[in-house]
Amino acid sequence: MADQKSEEREQYNYETFEEVLEEIKDRDYDKIGLQGPDGIKPQLIDFADELREHGFGTVIVGASTFGACGIADEKVERMGAEALIHVGHTRFLHPEKADMKDFDVFYLPYREDRDLMSVLRNNYEDIDKDETIGLVGVTQYMDRAEPAREFLEEKGYEVVDGTTGLRTTEKGQVLGCDAGAAHNIAHKVDAFVFLGSGHFHPSQVSETGKKVYVVDPYEKHIWVEPANSLEDEMQAEYARVLKHKDKQRWGIVTSSKKGQNYMRAVEIAKEKLEEHGKDVYVFVEDRIFEPDYKGYGIDIYVNCACPRMTKDWQDLSFVSPKALDVLDDLED
Ligand code: SF4
Repeated sequence: MADQKSEEREQYNYETFEEVLEEIKDRDYDKIGLQGPDGIKPQLIDFADELREHGFGTVIVGASTFGACGIADEKVERMGAEALIHVGHTRFLHPEKADMKDFDVFYLPYREDRDLMSVLRNNYEDIDKDETIGLVGVTQYMDRAEPAREFLEEKGYEVVDGTTGLRTTEKGQVLGCDAGAAHNIAHKVDAFVFLGSGHFHPSQVSETGKKVYVVDPYEKHIWVEPANSLEDEMQAEYARVLKHKDKQRWGIVTSSKKGQNYMRAVEIAKEKLEEHGKDVYVFVEDRIFEPDYKGYGIDIYVNCACPRMTKDWQDLSFVSPKALDVLDDLED
């Protein structure tokens, strides 16, 4: 059953544009939409040229996208397209199980061609052999998860593969909003090997309480992100809620992006705030920018969109729905 589920989950991810092309040539499409993040815009133009050579009309989504949470299938459908090729990210699962799949979307994740395997081969002895290792990483390098595991096992390491998370469709894949791949196996491992670079994603994995060996193809060595806990971040959010606990007006923000529209979270947060006698205002917008929420006379908002944004706001207070629990504790 588990295997069948993961097969279903992976069915819309492709490795090459040629594979996507083969698939869509067999279908009766006239026009195809294209969408992707910054950095691969020139590639979108190349793909549009190729699609045109094969007789398809095209329409390109102008704004870049940070994740497959923001698939623009409805926008291109309005332009007469019958399918969308979403470049850069893997298929995104809605954490509240809302339907992400009411249009033909072909996901073509971006794979970074930096030589990550050489970094692992040249530096693997930095990883303690006595530790059981969990293997995770970012989308750009997950096509190398299998060879990395094989290599580590050959060298005598015990390796546990990361799982899929609440929002992800590749085993071991970590997103800015989902380190479930690591959290789900944290109890079985002593440390993680992370395929990728930068501190953001490794620090999410370190919130499992385990240290993280980062196989970094930019730095060209393996460095360690120390074990951490979710506790500090949560305490900072509780402090923001407590600072505004006597305010009458509270806002709740969600996004109209399909994968960032968390209506169940909105309902739960609204109910909780109303139980505490607050006047609650629900806001929706495609992209969430802090300046849009200044001027309403509301100082604190609950983030029911991309969880990663909770850390971004500077002037207004932005908290996760979970942070509202501290209001209940005040009444105990
Ligand atoms: S919800 Fe946020 S962190 Fe998650 S994929 Fe979308 S943009 Fe990235």
